[in-house]
Amino acid sequence: MKNWAGNLEYSSAEVHRPTSVAELQELVASATRVKALGSRHSFNTVADTDGIHILLDALPQSLVVDAAKGTVKVSGGISYGALGRALDEQGFAIHNLASLPHISVAGAIQTGTHGSGVNNPSLAAAVVGIDLVRASGELVTLTADDDEFLASVVGVGALGIVTGLELAVRPSFEVRQRVLTGLSWESALTNFQGIASSAYSVSFFTDYTGDTIPQVWLKALDTEAPLPDLFGATAATTAMHPLPDMSAENCTEQLDVAGKWLDRLPHFRHEFTPSNGEELQSEFLLPLDQAPAALQAVRGLSEKLAPLLFISEIRTIAADEFWLSPFYEQQSVALHFTWKPLQPEVEAVLPELEEALRPFGARPHWGKLFTPGQYDFAALYPRFEDFRALVQANDPSGKFRNSLLDSVLGVAVTS
Ligand SMILES: Cc1cc2nc3c(=O)[nH]c(=O)nc-3n(C[C@H](O)[C@H](O)[C@H](O)COP(=O)(O)OP(=O)(O)OC[C@H]3O[C@@H](n4cnc5c(N)ncnc54)[C@H](O)[C@@H]3O)c2cc1C
Repeated sequence: MKNWAGNLEYSSAEVHRPTSVAELQELVASATRVKALGSRHSFNTVADTDGIHILLDALPQSLVVDAAKGTVKVSGGISYGALGRALDEQGFAIHNLASLPHISVAGAIQTGTHGSGVNNPSLAAAVVGIDLVRASGELVTLTADDDEFLASVVGVGALGIVTGLELAVRPSFEVRQRVLTGLSWESALTNFQGIASSAYSVSFFTDYTGDTIPQVWLKALDTEAPLPDLFGATAATTAMHPLPDMSAENCTEQLDVAGKWLDRLPHFRHEFTPSNGEELQSEFLLPLDQAPAALQAVRGLSEKLAPLLFISEIRTIAADEFWLSPFYEQQSVALHFTWKPLQPEVEAVLPELEEALRPFGARPHWGKLFTPGQYDFAALYPRFEDFRALVQANDPSGKFRNSLLDSVLGVAVTS
């Protein structure tokens, strides 16, 4: 089995597809090494194991909306695309989506996956309850009242296998999307927070060369006032693809045409389903007020970065409280890099990029390419030692560990 990008062949010895939660519990209890695999959209070894891989697609699937409570209960393996369609049919929505709808909900939440919007926290922020099979095989349900809830939601796969989630929902809403072209870097750096706050969700697309940012995608609630100011940029009059030479055919509708949240918040249409990718990704999350200085630092590396880049996307994310969330107590800007599939070259330039972003307190996206040795995780995450202690207590033999978790948390201490 390979991941979606095809840059990683998993090292699991066996793959199991349990048909009941009880069977899953037995598998976990008796395994030496075990890991859940979601939709395989991560780019690093975060989902890898040299033991048993567990796929959740044969478990009984359910999706139950509790309209009075304002939540939906779903099975762990569901994708955001399937969740979005089912919710919308019942008149509900979730607050935001990532760029691709095909990603599994449990896998996305475990790694702190996010969309954009200064007031929109990551997708994990919708979680109000989580069903988890611990390393012992015990099934627990954690809610905000439980001490371990804030550690387990963005758990980077280290604290258990998620079999179900309860997510906050809201009434379905409509969004209008428009693209601005030719925003000068000078205007972007001077007005960064103003531009990023000018619509419900804002994404900047650039390769850091030249004097202008070629595209800024604005997704406004249908109830929001029309944009007051274009910040010196020009509103596009035809539909755009973030990559200048690509057709906009597969992109969600633009030009201010209102549409359902699930047809506007992702950049690409649901029916356009890339089963595998020819790209790599990295992403670094840092405090929003550091955005202008951090962007200048990255621009300084543009000659090295641009030949390896398809495009870079800059987004914003509201703070949350999850211990290992890259947005822990920090309103953030996300500098995302979609690389050409040139892994050795990308891995050669990454440490220099990470070094340039270190002064801004950059935290790496758990599911994308980064260099673990470049980070002092205990300094970056105030609850890091508490997280390590919890992992040690719940998984003393390191069943859920793999090379990436070992390099972040240190090798498990077996008693
Ligand atoms: C084309 C593309 C677009 C992307 N867009 C975005 C984006 O807009 N924003 C963003 O933040 N990220 C984005 N990502 C990254 C992606 O959201 C994360 O890598 C996410 O973790 C992928 O989820 P997955 O289900 O594929 O997880 P996997 O890669 O399968 O697994 C990731 C981690 O989750 C764990 N896991 C999976 N399922 C479970 C479970 N049931 N219980 C416990 N642990 C589990 C795995 O063990 C592993 O630790 C994108 C990736 C791709 C390929």
